[in-house]
Amino acid sequence: MGRFQKKFNGAETVFNFDDVILLPGFSKVEPKEVDLATRFSKNIPISIPIVSSPMDTVTESEMAIALARHGGIGVIHRNCTVEEEVEMVKIVKRSESFIIREVVTISKDAKVGEAAEIMRKNRISGLPVVENNKLVGIITGRDVRFTDLSVSVGEAMTRNVVVARPEVTPEEAVELMKKHKVEKLPVVDKDGKLVGLITYRDVALRGEYKGATRDEEGRLRVAAAVSPFDVERAKLLSKHADALVIDVAHFHNENVIDATRRLVREVEVDVVIGSLGTKKGVLDSVSKIDSVAGLRVGIGSGSVCITTEVTRVGAPTLFAVSQAADALEEIGVEAPIIADGGVRNPGDVVLAIALGASCAMLGYVFAACKESPSQMTMMNGRYFKLHRGMGSQSARQKRMAVDRYSSKDIPEGTEIWIPFRGEVSSVINEFVAGIRAAMGYAGASNIEELRRNGRVARVISTREKVSIGQRINQLK
Ligand code: 5GP
Repeated sequence: MGRFQKKFNGAETVFNFDDVILLPGFSKVEPKEVDLATRFSKNIPISIPIVSSPMDTVTESEMAIALARHGGIGVIHRNCTVEEEVEMVKIVKRSESFIIREVVTISKDAKVGEAAEIMRKNRISGLPVVENNKLVGIITGRDVRFTDLSVSVGEAMTRNVVVARPEVTPEEAVELMKKHKVEKLPVVDKDGKLVGLITYRDVALRGEYKGATRDEEGRLRVAAAVSPFDVERAKLLSKHADALVIDVAHFHNENVIDATRRLVREVEVDVVIGSLGTKKGVLDSVSKIDSVAGLRVGIGSGSVCITTEVTRVGAPTLFAVSQAADALEEIGVEAPIIADGGVRNPGDVVLAIALGASCAMLGYVFAACKESPSQMTMMNGRYFKLHRGMGSQSARQKRMAVDRYSSKDIPEGTEIWIPFRGEVSSVINEFVAGIRAAMGYAGASNIEELRRNGRVARVISTREKVSIGQRINQLK
């Protein structure tokens, strides 16, 4: 046999979600007892194994906030200017925090009208009044409503402000606010300097979203996509975002690896690399970069991806996950693997974990939700939302993320209309319930157990397959 036929005969088998099934195992756990805590990257724990794709029909601030509140994390897309991306990250970081550090203040000589305008613009209901950084009062929406707008802030403000010390705990803050019936608690140091602000809304939300993904200051966490060749954007984003995701379609490329090696040295946050699809790709990349905080894997399986149709190249998500997991095990490196592309159902996330992933990245599923930035339309009495590949013709027109793809001349993505699914919270709850149920069947009480012991079988079926996702969509 000639060497070219041998190439075929010796070829590896690739597989994806429809080719594999999770086997039931001896179980001592009930689905509700299952612990879904896992990691997005080395230093970012998440409490559910779900993250959102950096695509301009999927993740902007609103989606990232929703995801972090539910225990996952969103990756802000980069098909926009640096300023726009930084602002989206900042909105997430500002959305909730225990102690707000960047407090909007006013001076006592300003007019009440100015205070009202600042509050309206920033969508806040009160401003600490400061003189030389020292707190001298507070002016709230209530003070403003019943005062002539030309009066000075100094006259209209409340002087005896209830304050907290920087060491205050969330519980003590709530107690203070309840006792004095106030909704805002300026935080001052021992010299009377304003160092932060606590609002009742933020503390209350903290109680509502117990498993939320937060940083040390109680702010929601968020990641941001970057090009490996745009160090300036990466440096700016790293001042605000909790992690950066190198967003290229083919990471296993000398220029991309070299650029990422340099970029990683310039920033202090976790850097997730990808997309990768083969064991060799992972070994070559990880060995050349000082610190890899995570890997995004899967090439060509996305719902709006046409790379495989156009180029006949691909590393299906589940195959890519198993390749990456084996590569890391071989070199003894521990880094979370993010399965990316083609996830439709909770079971897909479970399969990815059983084959070595720590979590899964979803585009299609989240583009369909209210919180996605994508366009909505009504057709035949039903609502649909637009999902488009970052390599599609229309996404490329913005020209911000074209360097994601090696060839700038052919589209590698398409656009589809998908049935609207409502709020992302209900979709996440559905996923969480499904993942728990599957883990109950498999007898895995946590993600690591599923990763280590989950057994899969290969599906061989001659019947035309109808995936659960299609059936659900047909019923809707
Ligand atoms: P989905 O969850 O929609 O099936 O897959 C989302 C993933 O598809 C993204 O996270 C990204 O890796 C990939 N992707 C997004 N846009 C494109 C594109 O235009 N072409 C290709 N090849 N992949 C894309």
